[in-house]
Amino acid sequence: MTNGPLNRKLKMGMVGGGQGSFIGKVHSIAACLDNRAEVVAGAFSSNPQRSKASAADYNVAESRAYGSYQEMFDKERQLPEGERIDFVTVATPNHTHFEISKAAVEAGFHVMCDKPMTFDLGQAEELAVLVDNSSVVFGLTHNYTGYPLIRQAREMIQSGELGEIQAVRANYIQGWLRSKIEDSDQKQAAWRTDPSKSGAAGCFGDIATHAYNLGRYMTGLLSEEISCHLRTFVPGRKLDDYGTALIKYDNGGLGTVTASQISHGRENDVTIEIDGTKGSLSWAQENPNAMQVRANGQPHKIYTRDPNAPYMLASGQAACRLPAGHPEAFFEAFANIYAAAFDAIVAKHSGEKVERINTVYPNVHDGVEGMLFIQQSVASSQQNGAWLPFKCDRARR
Ligand code: NAD
Repeated sequence: MTNGPLNRKLKMGMVGGGQGSFIGKVHSIAACLDNRAEVVAGAFSSNPQRSKASAADYNVAESRAYGSYQEMFDKERQLPEGERIDFVTVATPNHTHFEISKAAVEAGFHVMCDKPMTFDLGQAEELAVLVDNSSVVFGLTHNYTGYPLIRQAREMIQSGELGEIQAVRANYIQGWLRSKIEDSDQKQAAWRTDPSKSGAAGCFGDIATHAYNLGRYMTGLLSEEISCHLRTFVPGRKLDDYGTALIKYDNGGLGTVTASQISHGRENDVTIEIDGTKGSLSWAQENPNAMQVRANGQPHKIYTRDPNAPYMLASGQAACRLPAGHPEAFFEAFANIYAAAFDAIVAKHSGEKVERINTVYPNVHDGVEGMLFIQQSVASSQQNGAWLPFKCDRARR
């Protein structure tokens, strides 16, 4: 993995990731894992002092630790290419994603934004138009799509190995919000359960979007309608902490997405099971280096993440860094989202035309689909699980 003709590392400007935060550090580790990028600037916190104080954690010069993202974009734009930031990572709470991403695109910086892409669907649609009319690469870190065996499964499904896909069961089960820890000022819980910061949904926006996106990425199935029931089981909480959605696909198939943040003892239990006419597969992110593939009348197969095995297809192989048996996990999968976006950024710099819809990395249109998923899930639940349209235009282009 190299930056080829660019012949230098891509320069990263971080928004968020300040002291006491969670995912920003993961972004920087993932982006820099293959030596293709370096963090050179940041607006690390909504608090300018904390932003400056966080610079050392990223080995960033104090002069490039900015008091706000606006200041970072203004000052960095004035630097020569090769010195200024090439791309911006948005690792802030959901309600800020749109304004930061929009400003970055307008300033001509590529963007890697965390999910859910925006606060609501209107913002997502506006952002997609902006990105489509620009020359920036926009990646969305639905990072579970970066696991080698997920890429392998996707290629197996695309080549017809499982036959026609008829059922998808995607789950994301956690337990950390079983009690009302937002009242004790737990930073990550506080904004996630606040409708003015999280968006229309809590658990469903935070993690069901990952589960839905994973099924969509692996199968390519196009959704038609959705019915959903959301619940807030912890008394006094303002947003859902549990829910199940049922999805009708346009080939007659059915999907379910269940997400929980109130299941005792569950950590980051993302699981997906896919049934096709010729075979079925199942995968779990807490054991990501193995995937079960089954067909009636045949012995059950366990695919392990092995870049040298003859059964590994090109996309699965390309997503591996280590030989079989040396576990790869969250950082590496996250890094694979960055790697695919970097390939596109480098291709752009070389004047090549790059794919914008069917990209290896989740993109701005996946973000729109995610926001539609959230909006229609909430609306259906408010109507006692009524079936509502769930068609995303970009998928049908
Ligand atoms: P967090 O509360 O731990 O950190 C947010 C950081 O953003 C803090 O440093 C805060 O000061 C900073 N911030 C807020 N507003 C800012 C602004 N205007 N300018 C600069 N910095 C600002 O949150 P988190 O748990 O790291 O989540 C951040 C985002 O990442 C959320 O959208 C969340 O949904 C997403 N996330 C994704 C994954 C994943 O696996 N892809 C995992 C966790 C979180």
